[in-house]
Amino acid sequence: MRHSSFLEINLGILGDNFQKIKKCAPNAQILPMVKADAYGHGLLSISRFLSAECGVKYLGCARLSEAMRLSEACPELTATTLVFSDTEMDNPTHREAYLNFNITPVIHQASDLEVFLSDKNFRKVPLVLKFNSGMNRLGLTLEELEKYVPRLKQVGVAHLTSHLARSPEKLKEGDKSHKQLAEFNRARQFLKDAGVEVRETSLSNSGAIEQGFATEMDFIRPGLMLYGPASVENGAWDGRMISRFITKVLKTFIVKQGTPVGYGVNVAPKDMLIAVLPIGYGDGIHLASSGVKVKINGIEGRLFGRVNMDMIFIGFDPSVEGKIKSGDRVEFWSHDTQDIIEMARDMKTIPYEIMCGISGRIPRVYKVS
Ligand SMILES: *Cc1c(COP(=O)(O)O)cnc(C)c1O
Repeated sequence: MRHSSFLEINLGILGDNFQKIKKCAPNAQILPMVKADAYGHGLLSISRFLSAECGVKYLGCARLSEAMRLSEACPELTATTLVFSDTEMDNPTHREAYLNFNITPVIHQASDLEVFLSDKNFRKVPLVLKFNSGMNRLGLTLEELEKYVPRLKQVGVAHLTSHLARSPEKLKEGDKSHKQLAEFNRARQFLKDAGVEVRETSLSNSGAIEQGFATEMDFIRPGLMLYGPASVENGAWDGRMISRFITKVLKTFIVKQGTPVGYGVNVAPKDMLIAVLPIGYGDGIHLASSGVKVKINGIEGRLFGRVNMDMIFIGFDPSVEGKIKSGDRVEFWSHDTQDIIEMARDMKTIPYEIMCGISGRIPRVYKVS
């Protein structure tokens, strides 16, 4: 049974975005990021599609628990899942997962590299190593790498990676991204000169890929752009939002200027038509959404008053009475990425947070074209 509020995810659009990304980096392979439940779109369905239909070799998660969930639910998956941040390498029981499943940790701190190199069982696990090129969050420094050269020479680095801190900014010669790329190349050269084999590399996230930055490496790691929105303002990326957030009008009524509506004191500043939608913060509609634009039947209104757990109010000019009715279908956001980008701007947040925030109460419904 299809209920009235759901996130409709079009895997055909995901496939189109994937092909467009390929055109941005014709010589690189794509390592899609599916962390945080594939940016709210469903880890399992998105990963299955990327693996089976797009032929990706790797998928990127943040936590071991995400990778385990994928492994357990989709044993048929051929792609290897990389765990980029919470690898749990310090936990002897948990790190066994890397020996028993098709999951590889991204080694991003010296203590984990020590564990990786000391445990002989890990010889069969490829070494994916993160270098700190200047974001100063995760990754080993050049000094730390130096100490491990003798042991790294024995195993080789399967994949050297790093992460960019400011890629959504318009690129300029000498900026942070260029400095990070230079540091990354320095580390790669250092390892090569020291006799450590480095087989694959990756650096670029969406902001960089959109701008064709470092896309000649072996892999690129798109997240946001795969799901639709651009990172770079007025940039070249023209993906479509893979989801539409569908809900309906629960009821409509006219309020006179000065009438309080809902919780607290939110008094109608003028006569208004109010459309009540049956979604609220229990679905991930942040309280800061108050005031954002919402279109119903092509008519623009604004979220009025406080977001409730199960409801929001959209205020319209009273002249549209009759054009918006109880039961009308609403696209809270559509396949046009501008919707979620503008919503995020109004809320002083980013599309990532809105997408990741849609709660489990909203069913995810998949279609292919
Ligand atoms: C999240 C993430 C990405 C993707 O970033 P986007 O900005 O969503 O493209 C790439 N690499 C790593 C290590 C990440 O954690």
